[in-house]
Amino acid sequence: MKKSKLPQKLPKHLAWLILTWLTVLSVILTTHPIIAKNSFNNSPIQTNLINHLPKTASDSASDAASDPENILPKPHPLPETLQQWQDSSGDYFSEIESISSVGYLIWSQFPVTVYIQTPTMEQLETFQGKSLQTWANFVSQAVAEWSVYFPLKIVDDPETADITIWRRRPGLRLSETGEILPARAAEASYQLYHIFLQKSDNLTEKSTKILAHKFTILLSPTQTGSYIQSAAKHELGHALGIWGHSPLETDVMYLAQVRNPPPISPRDINTLKRIYQQPTYLGWPIR
Ligand SMILES: [Zn+2]
Repeated sequence: MKKSKLPQKLPKHLAWLILTWLTVLSVILTTHPIIAKNSFNNSPIQTNLINHLPKTASDSASDAASDPENILPKPHPLPETLQQWQDSSGDYFSEIESISSVGYLIWSQFPVTVYIQTPTMEQLETFQGKSLQTWANFVSQAVAEWSVYFPLKIVDDPETADITIWRRRPGLRLSETGEILPARAAEASYQLYHIFLQKSDNLTEKSTKILAHKFTILLSPTQTGSYIQSAAKHELGHALGIWGHSPLETDVMYLAQVRNPPPISPRDINTLKRIYQQPTYLGWPIR
């Protein structure tokens, strides 16, 4: 009896089915460097980058929200860790960008999955492979630090991961006047996607388009020891949604790398929590 009922009920109750990650809507190469504090005096690159962010984002993703029929951005429910977080030591939310046509860079499916580049079995026999394994261990520690405050899960497949982290030198960039900018130690960038969800019952079949994102983090192989971990921690902060920088050296999201990298601060988490209370187009249907 029970078994025969099941197939009829399934289509209605398992309402939404992910079909495919269909197309990459656009690739947005907005980047955030960490610049070794001792190498450059308060360089204008950072100012450029910050100024550059909303412009680049809206250029590339304009169809997400320019449609007048588009649904308004809305907040998502907070992950439990942030919901329970209470602290009164302030934040730097005013420094955080809401990307035009996208909103705040908020994840809404938890845990957020993270892929860390690891050596193959063959590579492990070599010096380079071993050094990649050491690197991956430092990066995992950065993921573990954030996991205390935010639901993250390390996965083996870069294709399906929300955030991928690679040991690779970020590409060279040019300034607006065509000069080559100093090489960066690390970079976080995001891409926007449309996911198509199919809803079907006995009579109709509807497809819904949802705006989604993925993050790519590049960490330069020139970084060593605890700097790998602190660079990973900083870029992960961007990938979790902190798209901006703290003015205080005691926060992980301070705009430059410091000699004694701080742990994730209450101000970092206060800022993250406020971001997750904001509206976004990400994770919601769009027309
Ligand atoms: Zn940064």
